[in-house]
Amino acid sequence: MLRYSRNFVFALLLAVLSAASPTWAKAPTRVVYTVSVADTAKKTYRVTAKAEGLTDPAVSFAIPAWTPGYYTLIDFQKDIANVSAVGPDGEPRAVKPLDPRTWQVATEGAKSVTIRYDLRASEPGYGFFRTYLDENNGFVNGPAALMYVVDGKTAPCAVTYRVPAGWKVASANAPTAGDPNTFTAPDYDTLADQPADLGRFARYDRTLNGVPFSVVVVGAEGADHKPFVENVYKVSEAGMRVFGSAPFPRYVYHFRFLERGGGAGLEHLNSTVIRLPEAALRGRGGLSITAHEFAHAWNVKRVRPAALGPFDYTRAVRVKDLWWSEGVTEYYAPRLLLEAGLADRAYWLEDIAAGINQLQNNPARQRVTLEEASLKAWEGGSQGFGGLSYYNKGMLVGLLLDIEMRRRTNNRVGLDHLMRHLLRESERTGRGFPENGIEAAATRLTGTDFAPFFERALRSTADLPFKETLAAAGLEMKETVRALPFLGLTWNPTRDGLEVTSLVPDGPAQKARLAAGDLLTHVGGTPVATLGGGFVRNRKPGETVPLTIRRGAQTVELNVTLGSRESRTYKVAEEPGATPLERSILAAITGAPPAPDNGGAR
Ligand SMILES: [Zn+2]
Repeated sequence: MLRYSRNFVFALLLAVLSAASPTWAKAPTRVVYTVSVADTAKKTYRVTAKAEGLTDPAVSFAIPAWTPGYYTLIDFQKDIANVSAVGPDGEPRAVKPLDPRTWQVATEGAKSVTIRYDLRASEPGYGFFRTYLDENNGFVNGPAALMYVVDGKTAPCAVTYRVPAGWKVASANAPTAGDPNTFTAPDYDTLADQPADLGRFARYDRTLNGVPFSVVVVGAEGADHKPFVENVYKVSEAGMRVFGSAPFPRYVYHFRFLERGGGAGLEHLNSTVIRLPEAALRGRGGLSITAHEFAHAWNVKRVRPAALGPFDYTRAVRVKDLWWSEGVTEYYAPRLLLEAGLADRAYWLEDIAAGINQLQNNPARQRVTLEEASLKAWEGGSQGFGGLSYYNKGMLVGLLLDIEMRRRTNNRVGLDHLMRHLLRESERTGRGFPENGIEAAATRLTGTDFAPFFERALRSTADLPFKETLAAAGLEMKETVRALPFLGLTWNPTRDGLEVTSLVPDGPAQKARLAAGDLLTHVGGTPVATLGGGFVRNRKPGETVPLTIRRGAQTVELNVTLGSRESRTYKVAEEPGATPLERSILAAITGAPPAPDNGGAR
């Protein structure tokens, strides 16, 4: 029997409205981009974006304020010039800037308009965040180059890279049959999150577990890439084994080798950009970064805080869980190397000990909580905040969480299970996890209350329970405390001595009445110029040291009694008397196959 009610009619009307809505939609039905190498000498691209299926009198295009994975605002608009627009007939259309990042184009009733602009490739090296161009190579990071249609980010997209003869294009977006330079994506987020290498690069392709992998190598032209590339394949296979899936249709590594400098990487949806010094073609440092970035294909690109996709490109997006997204990813890096046979347990133990050394010698751990470091990443250079790195502490919290989950469940459930559970949830819902979602999942999977663990680890500055928790994995943490002499001032070297720039409140230097601006010329009668920067290092805490100071026109003699500061060194080793359970936990967290996945049920 059917009963008609007012509400039912209303609901029926809504249904009719929403069924009809596609013809009224503001959003375009498709956005088609071209990125053309316009002038390599002037490092300029020409970009066009054609929005199709328009119905409104105006459409707005905007360039993002940040690029996913790097939590820092960037003025991409400063690289954009000569913005203009045309209708389908090629006739000019009026362009009105709405704010520094947004341009509104009048459609004049046309179903499509194309916005066009010059893009200055301002990335100084083969970097990550912007765009690069020289006579041999180009790089395009989507958010730096491609404007999105405001309120139209969900429309399907295509991009064609127009490059000089002899250049290739590599990107993890969906390739187009018969046109190697055109790629498609279901929406703007996907399109923009797959950068492109253009030019004369080396490319190595291999199918692993049925998934096509490409390793693009820019730079290091004369070197033998093969051994490194083989190791990258091993890391890739290890990642798919550890996480138990390959949630990408293809994967592209965009490597760039520079003569020197540090290594760094930026994760993308089905790809990563990794910059390394050429020396990393040998050795393990580059592979550790590779493992970290590849692990992001699961953790952050699929298992992600809810605010990290779909993205709001207009402002800083703050989340509490970057410790998970970056720190736990970092925890998995040595694990993947172990799984790949590229590292042994000693390497893993050293990596853990190095992390503990970094944290326990960092006074910021007593001022800043892990959640605060995550939330304020935008002010902390995308590393942490106030000196606390969420990579460092987050990695260690991941380790302790792994052990603690296994301790409470007789080694039945650990971090691998938690990650796989979150992965299934993200696939099921298509969304990221909510705030406190990790804590809730750990509690549910283990059937034990994880609130106190997370309270201490994330929301307090109390030291982490390393000793007790490591013991549950048959590991012994040894701490060596040394007292080092401490003067308590900072200085700038000048031609005549060391100019005091600041003093630690109530520190030995301040107690001896040194002041900012004093010029320290002699220590114990010896000119500081001949002593080098570490002139207190060879002395002992409690020792009294005569200092000669120039203060204005005066020369002042002072005695300072050196204080002491603690230096802590940590080593982590296997405990010979560990129980079988403790040994099995260690085996599990260092790469023995995980227990059969029970679907997260308990
Ligand atoms: Zn990362």
